[in-house]
This record gives sequence, C-alpha cells and structure tokens, in this order.
Amino acid sequence: MTVFEIDGKLLIVDCGVLFPEETQPGVDLILPDFEPIRDRLDDVVAIMLTHGHEDHIGAVPYLLRLRQDIPLIGTTLTLALIEAKLKEHRIAPLTMSVEAGGREKLGPFDLEFVAVNHSIPDALAVMIRTSAGSVLHTGDFKMDQLPLDGRLTDLRSFARLGEEGVDLFLVDSTNADVPGFTPREADIGPVLDQIVHRAP
Ligand SMILES: [Zn+2]
Repeated sequence: MTVFEIDGKLLIVDCGVLFPEETQPGVDLILPDFEPIRDRLDDVVAIMLTHGHEDHIGAVPYLLRLRQDIPLIGTTLTLALIEAKLKEHRIAPLTMSVEAGGREKLGPFDLEFVAVNHSIPDALAVMIRTSAGSVLHTGDFKMDQLPLDGRLTDLRSFARLGEEGVDLFLVDSTNADVPGFTPREADIGPVLDQIVHRAP
C-alpha cells in the first residue's frame, strides 16, 4: 500500500496483505498499518488497484470498513476480484473501471494507465501527474515476450513517459535481485495427464 499526498488530498495505490510465515503462529493476515491515514480518510480521492493479487488488494475490505465509499479504480478483472471479496464483508464498493491507455483526473492527481504483463491478466502501471511532479508506479510486471493473453508490457508507453519526464519511478518486481530470467508463463502450469495420474 502506497499513499501519495498533494494539496491535502490522498491517493492510495494498492492495499494488500501478507500471509504469515511459520515463525508467526496464530497470525491469520498481515495488514498495512492504516494509522497514519486513519484521521485523513475523507481526503482520500481513490484507491487505484494495479492488479488482483492478494498482496495488492487483500486489505481493501479492512480499509473500506473505515470508510466504505472510497472509489476503487482498476481494470474489469481486478475490480471483479475485489468485488467478490468485498461481498463476503457485505460491502458494495464504488468502482471506476479503467483500461490501459486511459486517463482520469482525480482531484489534484492526473492518472494515466499503462498495460503491464504479469502472472495475472489485466495488470496496470500508473503514471501519476501532479503539480509537484510525476510518479510512475509499475505495479508488478513481467517482461514476458510470449504472454498467454498476448498482452505485452507496453514498453513503448514507458519510453514515451520517460521522454516526458518521470520524477519518481517506483518499480516492483519479485526476484529482481536474482540473476537470470524467469520462465515464461506459458511454461508454467499443470500438465493435464500428471493431474489425472495424481488423482486418487
Ligand atoms: Zn502480483
């Protein structure tokens, strides 16, 4: 969960959970600390969700319990995943569906959405333009050249934004510090007859 502030308004990007490790018995979920914005929730213009993984959306219900009408912004799939989760918490959220290439102005934040490839479909990076400067937040992404859904990380848009000028580039990529390449998504996944053979 990242919070941006300008002119008294807050924009939240992602709001996920961590799952406990074996050294944390009795812990079900690890939530972000909402304390720094607990008194500021009326100033939040939106929660922008880059993609539907738990470590990016899992804590949204706990934040919306504090203020239910914070608008959620994301692609159709991302919003469908969070809406299903919010139903369990009996919360019907305000949502704004966006697409790669789209642009939305929310108070002092001007958002542009860029397609990124990831292990879940419909992921976005977001360019946040403000009067104080521009932030490019990639969300999680992969440079898979042969993605299952044919939706590549939009390097052309990243180049264009780079030429325009980015003051802060926030990059999130699991295992970025491990040398080498990660496998293509097409190489990951169940082999059907192995599943059949394993079945009791
Ligand atoms: Zn992810």
